[in-house]
Amino acid sequence: MKKYDYLVVGAGLAGCTIANLLKKNNKRVLIIEKEDHIGGMCYSEKRENIEVHIFGPHIFHTDSKEVFDFVQQFSPFNNFVNQPKAYKNGKLYSLPYNMNTFYEVFNTIKPCDAKKVIDEEIKKENIKNPANFEEKCLSLVGRTIYEIFIKDYTAKQWKTDPKNLPASLASRLPLRFYYDNNYFNHRYQGIPEIGYTKMLQNMIDGIKIEFNTDFNKDIKKYIDMAEHVIYTGSIDELLDFKYGILNYRTLRFEHKVLDVDNYQGTAVINNNEKDVPYTRSIEHKFFNYSQTEKTVVSYEYPEEYKLGCVKYYPSLQQKDNELYMKYLDEIKTTFPNLHVLGRIAQYKYLDMDKVIIEAFELFKQLTKNF
Ligand code: UDP
Repeated sequence: MKKYDYLVVGAGLAGCTIANLLKKNNKRVLIIEKEDHIGGMCYSEKRENIEVHIFGPHIFHTDSKEVFDFVQQFSPFNNFVNQPKAYKNGKLYSLPYNMNTFYEVFNTIKPCDAKKVIDEEIKKENIKNPANFEEKCLSLVGRTIYEIFIKDYTAKQWKTDPKNLPASLASRLPLRFYYDNNYFNHRYQGIPEIGYTKMLQNMIDGIKIEFNTDFNKDIKKYIDMAEHVIYTGSIDELLDFKYGILNYRTLRFEHKVLDVDNYQGTAVINNNEKDVPYTRSIEHKFFNYSQTEKTVVSYEYPEEYKLGCVKYYPSLQQKDNELYMKYLDEIKTTFPNLHVLGRIAQYKYLDMDKVIIEAFELFKQLTKNF
């Protein structure tokens, strides 16, 4: 019999969730983590007594009561509601695209008037079957909104022309003909009051974890330690990049401590200017309503991905997806007891709640014979 039932590779949200479920099911679990801390992209730490989301703003939102009940076991959640603003040409606009935005852009007060303006713009575009992100946006919101809010921001963020991105990305952008600046349509929303890192720490309480331990440095050794491996890293590494490097979108964050108690008056401002290199400025104290004398503001810069960079988002390009599938097919036969989980390993643009749902699903599959 092997030493562990499950080896979980990576202590981010995916790894911590599955480890928790398996442990509760009396499985013998070991987590290995190549960094010296848990959290993955959710990692947060206190600076100036403010919980800072080191890898970008993480706002928890879901429609699933099961998911929200699950996370609330590990931290109380506050009632933060994401109401980001967008900056363009010296003006600050409301997001997502709703009656407040239409008033700011078109001066329309009534939904029927805003709808009329946008419908006319959509008609003018005459796009029947949107083939890419740009066409999809134009067919949903018309040219004015697209050009103020989406075109330059997206080009900057994804480092490509929006025409090269899939239409499906547009499903992340809500459009509303009522006055409501809540960015998400989901029923449950908030930020863990104790911070993401401590929340995840509670999730894996009592589970053995080894830090500074890289699975890919000695795959054979680690595979032999457990009956099953749950892998949350990038799968090209498992086959030593034999078909080439899988592409991701990466970011660089500049975290600044400012000697003022309130710098931008809100948690997130998107910067839609083409020539400003960052996409968002994030003032962390607003996530947790922290009363502090100083503030911490982070600027988010999209960067060209190279091997060794932090992987934030899977690429949305068809050719990269094909490469992923090629790796996945081979991994299934080379490592039959290895299961992939999470945004990086599954190569899907999953929000936090979806990562947890994927972990629930995998757990059900793994334990159905017991
Ligand atoms: N987007 C945009 N303008 C905005 C916000 C979003 O064009 O002000 C586009 C952009 O292409 C982005 C996508 O919509 O990648 C999804 O945005 P979301 O806010 O969901 O991105 P995330 O928070 O996951 O980075």
